Amino acid sequence: MTSLPLISVDPDARGRRPAMPPRHLADLDLPGRQALVTELGEPAFRAKQVSNHYFGRLVRDPAQMTDLPAATRERLAGTLLPTLLTPVRELACDDGATRKALWRLHDGALVESVLMGYPDRVTVCISSQAGCGMACPFCATGQAGLTRNLSTAEIVDQAVYLAGVAASGAVAGSPPRLSHVVFMGMGEPLANYSRVVAAIRRLVAPAPEGLGLSQRHITVSTVGLVPAIRRLASEDLSVTLALSLHAPDDGLRDELVPVNQRWKVSEVLDAAWDYADTTGRRVSIEYAMIKDVNDQPWRADLLGRLLAGKLAHVNLIPLNPTPGSRWDASPKPVEREFVRRLRDAGVSTTVRDTRGREIDGACGQLAAAEDRDSDPRAATA
Ligand code: SAH
Repeated sequence: MTSLPLISVDPDARGRRPAMPPRHLADLDLPGRQALVTELGEPAFRAKQVSNHYFGRLVRDPAQMTDLPAATRERLAGTLLPTLLTPVRELACDDGATRKALWRLHDGALVESVLMGYPDRVTVCISSQAGCGMACPFCATGQAGLTRNLSTAEIVDQAVYLAGVAASGAVAGSPPRLSHVVFMGMGEPLANYSRVVAAIRRLVAPAPEGLGLSQRHITVSTVGLVPAIRRLASEDLSVTLALSLHAPDDGLRDELVPVNQRWKVSEVLDAAWDYADTTGRRVSIEYAMIKDVNDQPWRADLLGRLLAGKLAHVNLIPLNPTPGSRWDASPKPVEREFVRRLRDAGVSTTVRDTRGREIDGACGQLAAAEDRDSDPRAATA
């Protein structure tokens, strides 16, 4: 007998097939879970029971699944809920309102997620790939290259795990229920398209099939893979699209977001406006403010002209300098002038808060720091 792989994997860029993790219930929709449970010789309704523990009660310890017969609890939970994420390090800052988790995956790959509590909401920022192949020079994750795509369940489990942390009351001054998910951790979500879309379906499906989040509370952030943006618009999902623009002109964007060499500013913005038309959702334009690189008044004016009258909102991100980077964040007066010019052009603009700075809360820096710590070369540097 030959055994088939549990999850089929696209070959990675080097043509190898990275080892994917064991199958987990979050990889499957409810009928898929029922079929699996039946294969185990258990009644199909056990799939709903285990799903309800995982998604509804945020419980993953079989000992707490007392509605399952004691004899089959371990086997059911072991099959449906294999451990995917092992916490390596958890850090908190902002008086506990921001918590960052670094996870080790079954094959040793490292990814990270961030939990952010606000008075009216709780947001998790999750990773869609281990590493990233998009090579944006200002992003720590981009420097390391792509290790592999995450499975659907590895993506979902970050949110479910941190929803459990929030539910335990760990985020003081915030509601206990996770409400928002942003795909702004490591990786390019639209380069892992089918697993990311399946993960979104799990996040929005009502319990026990999924976590029951609102579609509009999910944000997918992309460098601008135009065909994938168009495909996302055609799904029956209306999640928020964030486009990492970072420059309004092709000359500079070719350098800051190298995928621009394939899809130009005008093409990616056309795809973004079509996405806004189809879904009715305002597109969020992400723009890291990099001192003397992309923060000139003329670039603010050009950006304003490109966005005026569109269903768009600009989110300026003070650059979080990566270790060894030659770039720095723009000075505050320069940032204020940039905001003023955009608003004068009629473009709604905000500056993103810098949550998690002291724990390298943005942009792949914790995983990078872990690699540095365990790199013998770092000791002699
Ligand atoms: N690959 C996706 C999502 C991951 S990054 C994307 O590029 O959109 C999430 C956001 O953080 C992106 O807008 C990215 O450009 C931005 N970012 C990356 N490194 C940064 C840094 N050092 N400082 C500020 N923002 C950064």
